[in-house]
Amino acid sequence: MAPRILAFANQKGGVGKTTTAINLATALAADHKVLLLDLDPQGNASTGLGVMRQDRAAGSYALLVEGRQLAELIRPTPAPGLFIVPADPDLAGAEIELVGLEDRERRLATILAEARGTLATFDYVFLDCPPSLGLITLNALVAADGVLVPLQTEFFALEGISQITRTIDRVRRALNPRLRLDGIVLTMVDRRNNLSELVANDVRGFFKDKVYECVIPRNVRVSEAPSHGLPVLLYDFRSPGAQAYVKLAAEFLKRERARIRAS
Ligand code: ADP
Ligand code: MG
Repeated sequence: MAPRILAFANQKGGVGKTTTAINLATALAADHKVLLLDLDPQGNASTGLGVMRQDRAAGSYALLVEGRQLAELIRPTPAPGLFIVPADPDLAGAEIELVGLEDRERRLATILAEARGTLATFDYVFLDCPPSLGLITLNALVAADGVLVPLQTEFFALEGISQITRTIDRVRRALNPRLRLDGIVLTMVDRRNNLSELVANDVRGFFKDKVYECVIPRNVRVSEAPSHGLPVLLYDFRSPGAQAYVKLAAEFLKRERARIRAS
């Protein structure tokens, strides 16, 4: 069976894409096999899963630009069941180098299709996108079945999200008819902050059940975990942040079952 491929995308930085990709993946990996592709040159997903900068000899740049085999680039993480293709330092150049390549927006889709043998043992492939709507993110959207959009509840959140949803619509029409907005995850929610609640209500009013019921609270343990090279689920399982991601994974799987029944 082919894995389900999900992109974690939002052109804004610092909204919780990487944190959500890492921790949802870790929670799912308890009984699924998950591969995380770090497509952000900043490499936060790699660092957050314990692959330090000096150890990133070959990763997603080697995959996307140099034509290296996926199987050679996959590494284990501290979470059993979760594997990663890290972001190698050269990835920063990929955005420009891709411009000159044939089928530049379909590279990743083609590579993953050709690696279907390697991917057959995985249930999910998560694509952690950079904070832009450039060629790397476009490659992720063309390769993906669905998009999860992490959204920080702050002023202008709705404007920000309309940009990514318009991009998803455009990619679906022009390049990848499979692509769907899978869901919106509200991150760094502060219940003591009225604005946070107001924005959350606005987003729910507009995007209805696309928005996950489960929200991720702002929690210092979540922000500490990456400096230990661990998902917050392994760093402090009892923290509110870790528990929110456990709940998010349960809701994710419930939605997956509903989606499969409906298809
Ligand atoms: P993105 O990938 O969208 O740029 P990150 O996931 O890297 O965003 O998150 C940005 C910063 O916020 C990181 O330093 C991260 O540790 C921190 N962060 C993310 N989620 C939370 C949270 N729920 N509580 C506290 N800090 C968080
Ligand atoms: Mg990130």
